[in-house]
Amino acid sequence: MEKNEKFAGLRHKMVYFQLIGRDIKDTNVIEAMEKIPRHLFVEENYQSEAYSDYPLPIGMGQTISQPYIVALMTQALGLRKEDSVLEIGTGSGYQTAVLAEIAKEVFTVEKINSLIIKAEKVLASLNYVNIHFKNSDGYDGWFEKSPFDKIIVTAAPNDIPDSLTRQLKNEGIMLIPIGLAGRTQTLYKVTKTGNKVIKKEICGVAFVPLIKEEN
Ligand code: SAH
Repeated sequence: MEKNEKFAGLRHKMVYFQLIGRDIKDTNVIEAMEKIPRHLFVEENYQSEAYSDYPLPIGMGQTISQPYIVALMTQALGLRKEDSVLEIGTGSGYQTAVLAEIAKEVFTVEKINSLIIKAEKVLASLNYVNIHFKNSDGYDGWFEKSPFDKIIVTAAPNDIPDSLTRQLKNEGIMLIPIGLAGRTQTLYKVTKTGNKVIKKEICGVAFVPLIKEEN
């Protein structure tokens, strides 16, 4: 069988069993993940595992999130095609591609330059033109491009950073894992209404830490 055909088969099974078989119903999310060649976002020696039900290493001690978690977070964001989205933690760029398939503009911030260079390359090869990259500290968000309709954080801080809630539009939604690495972390859906910030627990998760510079 041709390689791409084999990956398409694995991808279809991933969508069917890991997403639809659980609680993923958002057709935009399902279509995006059926389309995006996830194996291009991992190292060559992990490509055969790219559609498996777990996270994988992407170098520099970082990981590409499990497909189900990507789907769950994107679904919980309630993305609309007119949305402007801020992503913190570009990593492999896979989640970025899922966002870019559905939303209007994606602004993605990553601390490790070598990861952003790799992600930029693969996303350009897939012809995305609505993704904007920034190599900087995610705790600062991306002030010049704020406010955002949606924010997604794919590494875990200990608390919700105020700077990020401030960059959320009124009625905006942020998905963020909170807690110490190696301990139980909780994924929260944060909604902003006027001055009120409402936190809703979604589930337990395991993310790499959102690294804080000691200074
Ligand atoms: N969505 C990515 C997940 C990558 S893991 C994927 O599926 O591939 C989390 C990413 O957050 C890592 O790439 C890590 O380098 C980045 N990160 C950690 N701390 C950060 C910080 N303070 N600012 C920006 N990015 C950070």
